[in-house]
Amino acid sequence: MEGILRAWHAILVGRQPCLSVEITRECPLSCPGCYAYNTEHLGDRITLRTLSDYRGDELVNRLLELVRVERPLHLSIVGGEPLVRYRELNSILPELARMGIHVQLVTSAVRPIPTEWASIPRLRVAVSIDGLQPEHDARRKPATYDRILRHIAGQHVTVHCTVTRQQVRREGYLEEFVRFWSAVADVESIWISLYTPQIGEISDERLRPADREQVVAELDALRPRYPKLDVGPEVLAAMKSPPRSPSECIFAQVTRCVSADLRQPITPCQLGGHPDCSNCGCMASAGLNAVGRHRLPGGVPVSAVFVWSGKVGALVRRLRTTAADAAAAQPQESTAR
Ligand code: SF4
Ligand code: SF4
Repeated sequence: MEGILRAWHAILVGRQPCLSVEITRECPLSCPGCYAYNTEHLGDRITLRTLSDYRGDELVNRLLELVRVERPLHLSIVGGEPLVRYRELNSILPELARMGIHVQLVTSAVRPIPTEWASIPRLRVAVSIDGLQPEHDARRKPATYDRILRHIAGQHVTVHCTVTRQQVRREGYLEEFVRFWSAVADVESIWISLYTPQIGEISDERLRPADREQVVAELDALRPRYPKLDVGPEVLAAMKSPPRSPSECIFAQVTRCVSADLRQPITPCQLGGHPDCSNCGCMASAGLNAVGRHRLPGGVPVSAVFVWSGKVGALVRRLRTTAADAAAAQPQESTAR
């Protein structure tokens, strides 16, 4: 509840409580279905690979400055592959912890996760894993199962699997996956998302409506038996009926996403391009939409309050920008007189 109130306050004063940053344009992998390198991810004329990015002290200083300006409650660090900037992150992450910010870093674990990260407060390292070893290794080489198991040793990571159609063809596949990673001591929790296609996308990854129903039912059955599987009933219910558009998605409304030059916006959400919201399976979106379904005393849904507050916040932002523009113009007018 405290988190909701803090987020609500941030929105009312014209801030977005969540920030997502593509910290680098580089990644040594080339996974099928990767949205970050999709040609539509950043719009028609630019791609993540052609964007300029930063490294060294310049990255450290610019990223921390962005965080000081935006003052998010939660920061997602994504890529590209964040671990290609592990030296910079060795400076950035402890500073974010000192600022009291909750940080989630999404990685393929293609290289060792620095040992000292395991003790940084409020840091969650989420390792993306695409199914069981044969399928994962084929899709994500060189970040293979063997390497991941070595590179997460001594950590307490979250395993995040995005379920694609390839994974629902064999009965018992999901349970095998959950059983395997539940048994790994370095894994604290397991998250599951469903593959979110772009509008009109026809691909091997795209789930059919019946696949979605099946995965949600399986996860519901697995939950009580595998405590590390962190997918609650409300999140599963939200996955069954995703928002119809970004304007109905709380996650998109409360999150500012920027790419590797730390300026280029990613819209309408971190997927970029033209995501098919009605087939969204993003766990973050489902989690926030689950919160949005709660009703406040008086029966008003939390989602309606967030939408209304977002409009007030946008007005506050516009007024603030207008006031800042007027203040900037003032000395020039004085000089002209
Ligand atoms: S590791 Fe992530 S950013 Fe890199 S290609 Fe795979 S999905 Fe894309
Ligand atoms: S997170 Fe999902 S529902 Fe929200 S804007 Fe993106 S694709 Fe649409």
